Amino acid sequence: MAFSHNIYMHVPFCMSKCNYCAFYSTACSNPDWEKYANDICSELKFWSRKLGKVNVPTVFFGGGTPSLMPVNVFEQIMNCVRECFCIKENCEITLESNPGTIDKDKLSEFVSMGINRLSVGVQSLNDTELKFLGRRHNVKQALNLLTLAQNMNLRISADFIYGLPNQNVQSVIDLCNDINKLELKHVSLYELTIEKNTPFGKMNLKMPDNETMADMYLAISDNLSLPRYEVSNYAKPGCECRHNQNIWDGEPYIGIGRGAAGRVFIDNVWYEQNGANELFEPISNEMRAVEKILTGMRTMRGVKLTDDVKNQINFDWVDLHKDLVELNSEYLHTTTRGLLVLDDIITDLIK
Ligand code: SF4
Repeated sequence: MAFSHNIYMHVPFCMSKCNYCAFYSTACSNPDWEKYANDICSELKFWSRKLGKVNVPTVFFGGGTPSLMPVNVFEQIMNCVRECFCIKENCEITLESNPGTIDKDKLSEFVSMGINRLSVGVQSLNDTELKFLGRRHNVKQALNLLTLAQNMNLRISADFIYGLPNQNVQSVIDLCNDINKLELKHVSLYELTIEKNTPFGKMNLKMPDNETMADMYLAISDNLSLPRYEVSNYAKPGCECRHNQNIWDGEPYIGIGRGAAGRVFIDNVWYEQNGANELFEPISNEMRAVEKILTGMRTMRGVKLTDDVKNQINFDWVDLHKDLVELNSEYLHTTTRGLLVLDDIITDLIK
C-alpha cells in the first residue's frame, strides 16, 4: 500500500542575511533560478519513481525566501509536483514570504497556481526592532502583505520574534496585544536565540536572563488571544498548519532541495533522506518511534500512544511526574510547567 507523503521544498535564497539567521540560505539577489527549478524537478521525479504517484496532503515552500521565486519558476515546479504526485483539491500549499518581495499581482499568480496558505515573516511591529534584526522591510509593508492575503481569502500565518535585548515581560504583553488587534488565525512566536556565526553571535548582546525568558513565554499564553498548539505556534482551532502538524504527528514527508531533510516510508521501512539521494538510509522502527515522541511532545495534543511509541516510553517516570506530563487514553502530552523543561522531559521520558 502506498502511503501519503507531505512535501517540504526548500528555497535557499534571500535578498540579504538577517542578523540572527542560522537557516540554510544564501544572500543572493540574482540566483540561477533555471538551474534551481531543474534540480527541484529532477528530485521530485526521483521520489515519484521511488514512491509511485502517492497522495500528497500538504506542500510547504520554506526558506530562505520562497516568495522571491519568479512566477515562471514557481509554475514549472508546481506543474512538476502535479505530474509526479496526486494533489487533491484540499491539499494545503503554503508559501513562506517576506514583506517587500511579493506584490498583489505576483501573489495572485501564485494563488492561481495553487498556493492557499501564506506565511508572512513579520517578526516585529516596531520599525527600530526590524532594523536591529536586519530585516529589509518595515511594519507598513508587513501589514500591507497581511491585508493583501486577507483580501484573497488565503489562510494566513505571521511569524514574530520576542526576547530581544532590553525587552522585558511587558514588551511581550504589548506585542501580544498588538498581534491580537490584527485578528490573525495563526501566529508563530519564536524566542530570539543567538547562534554562533551570525552577526548577533559576534556582538556580545545583553540578552534577557533565562528566568525573564520563561516569564515572557508564560505571558504569551496569558495575553495572546489564540491558543498554543505547539511550543511556538498558536492558532484558532481548525486553523493549525496541517503540514507541520502532520510532521509532528510522525507522518512521512519528503524533503526537496539542498538542506531539506525528510522521512520517507517505503515497503514498511522508514528512510532518512535529504534532497534527491544525497542521503537515503533506512532507520529502525524504534528510532522512528523516538522521533515521533520528540516531535509529538512539542504539540499540546501530545504524542499518540501507538504500540511502537509505547514501547519507547518509561511509564514509571510518567507516573512519578504528573506535574510535567499528562496521559489521556490516546495521547501523552506536557503540562504548561512541563513545556518550560521540555528537553529534560524528553531525555527522562524515553527508555
Ligand atoms: S529572510 Fe529568513 S531565511 Fe532569509 S536571512 Fe532572514 S531569517 Fe534567514
